[in-house]
Amino acid sequence: MSHPTRTQLEQAAQAQLDALKAGQEPLKPRERLALPAQEMPTRDPIARRKSMQEVALGYTEAQVRLEARRCLQCRNAPCVQGCPVRIEIPAFIQAISDGNDAEAIAIIRRASLLPAVCGRVCPQESQCQLPCTVGKSLKDVGKAVMIGRLERYVADLERESGALATPAVKSPTGKRVAVIGSGPAGITVAADVRREGHEVVMFEAFHKPGGVLMYGIPEFRLPKAIVQQEIETLRAMGVRIETNFVVGRTRKLLDLLEKDGFDAAFIGSGAGLPNFMNIPGENLVGVFSANEYLTRANLMRAYDKGRAETPIYPSRRVAVLGGGNVAMDSARMAVRLGAEEVHLIYRRTEAEMPARVEEVGHAKEEGVIFHMLENAKRVVGDEYGRVTGLECLCYELGAPDKSGRPRPVEIAGSEFMREVDTVIVAIGNSSNPLIRQTTAGLETDKRGNIVVDADGQTSIPGVYAGGDIVLGAATVILAMGEGRRAAAAINRRLAGGTL
Ligand code: FAD
Ligand code: SF4
Ligand code: SF4
Repeated sequence: MSHPTRTQLEQAAQAQLDALKAGQEPLKPRERLALPAQEMPTRDPIARRKSMQEVALGYTEAQVRLEARRCLQCRNAPCVQGCPVRIEIPAFIQAISDGNDAEAIAIIRRASLLPAVCGRVCPQESQCQLPCTVGKSLKDVGKAVMIGRLERYVADLERESGALATPAVKSPTGKRVAVIGSGPAGITVAADVRREGHEVVMFEAFHKPGGVLMYGIPEFRLPKAIVQQEIETLRAMGVRIETNFVVGRTRKLLDLLEKDGFDAAFIGSGAGLPNFMNIPGENLVGVFSANEYLTRANLMRAYDKGRAETPIYPSRRVAVLGGGNVAMDSARMAVRLGAEEVHLIYRRTEAEMPARVEEVGHAKEEGVIFHMLENAKRVVGDEYGRVTGLECLCYELGAPDKSGRPRPVEIAGSEFMREVDTVIVAIGNSSNPLIRQTTAGLETDKRGNIVVDADGQTSIPGVYAGGDIVLGAATVILAMGEGRRAAAAINRRLAGGTL
């Protein structure tokens, strides 16, 4: 399959734009629907197998103007309902179409704190782009207006031009707020609460702030410089960030409130506890949770061979178990870390895979080998306890389960062996139990997630929570939205003077 270069895509878009200029604007809906959906320029698939550099290169200016013209400016704007933070999508797209990028990013920023991040990693095809009228009219969600890519363009432009301003902070109120966890939920709360003039201290267990944006999502999908810039903005606003600080170990949550003088707290500790298959051999050397594998690679920079302080297990043949975004990230990371073969094993078919279609496509382009209707039964090792193989079972699809997806049914007697030296388990994450176990009176549900009210407040007055620790493993934009809601409630509470 030919791989169009960025220049080729730019030239094609420019030719279309020139043709439009010669004709009549504004365009009729039928003409807008006839414009081609703009392809995202990407790095060459062969070259990127050895590179951590971002795969998606971002639209060119001609592409962005053309893509914006595909928007029908629907009066009911179904796309806005699909965005968890309700960005005024038609308005920002109109601004781009008019060539007013500064206005576009200003509109986005009214609702979203992290547009450069969300423009890259939001599962747009199941959020804002899912109900888009263009996609519906063309009977293909893949041809909806590329809202996320437009958002990324104006966010990058703002960042690269140095126009990103530090938000103003009101005069000190004397109130103190503890934010636990520095992922998207914590970052949002810290910014929104600090703006009101409250002192904010962010506590992060890892040595680097950013949560999954830093340790989970790989550099080739989300450059870490973008995340660090958001962290630097927080610092510039006066937020103090304490890293290597595990709330529940270094200090208990209630001690922060009762002994250390914090007036309120927000728990945004995420869902960092990996789920395992619970099959024989899972304790062998060479079996990783996706979290450990990606954390070593991303946060500890294990790919920087010879220099990284925490080198990673060298692999030749890798099996990744799972079909979500985390599985795709792990498989693509394994390719970049030098594995000769990377096998992705999923017990349903590609149609049921929860991973983003784009990520599946990228993984295939990079040479990840997909095995559908298959699952691991047992990990096999040698006399030194090192992985040598994976016993797998074949599956077929049965009647739908509670999720509505066809149930995978084992085919008896279909066992066979795959020769691998590394197994990465990427079948989901649960909430870390530490804070729950060390905080008396903190209500959690049966999955261990913290229970909150409509304001994001937990069973302990003055203690709020949001993001994955409340929702279970979810998305960046949902975590950010929850952070916004809790920050507004904290600000109201502190303005009222009650705790
Ligand atoms: P997190 O981002 O998990 O941050 C929580 C932070 O709290 C962590 O830094 C953790 O170290 C810290 N912490 C935990 N316990 C303590 C403690 N006791 N004391 C102090 N600090 C603590 N979502 C998308 O929208 N798009 C994607 O493409 C996408 N890809 C993903 C890929 C991977 C590999 C993973 C793992 C997740 C992905 N997600 C994606 C999900 C998304 O990243 C999360 O939903 C989101 O980051 C949740 O944000 P959060 O702020 O709730 O928690
Ligand atoms: Fe779409 Fe995410 Fe942007 Fe909302 S924040 S408009 S869901 S890309
Ligand atoms: Fe534009 Fe699609 Fe939103 Fe309609 S639904 S306003 S076409 S982005």
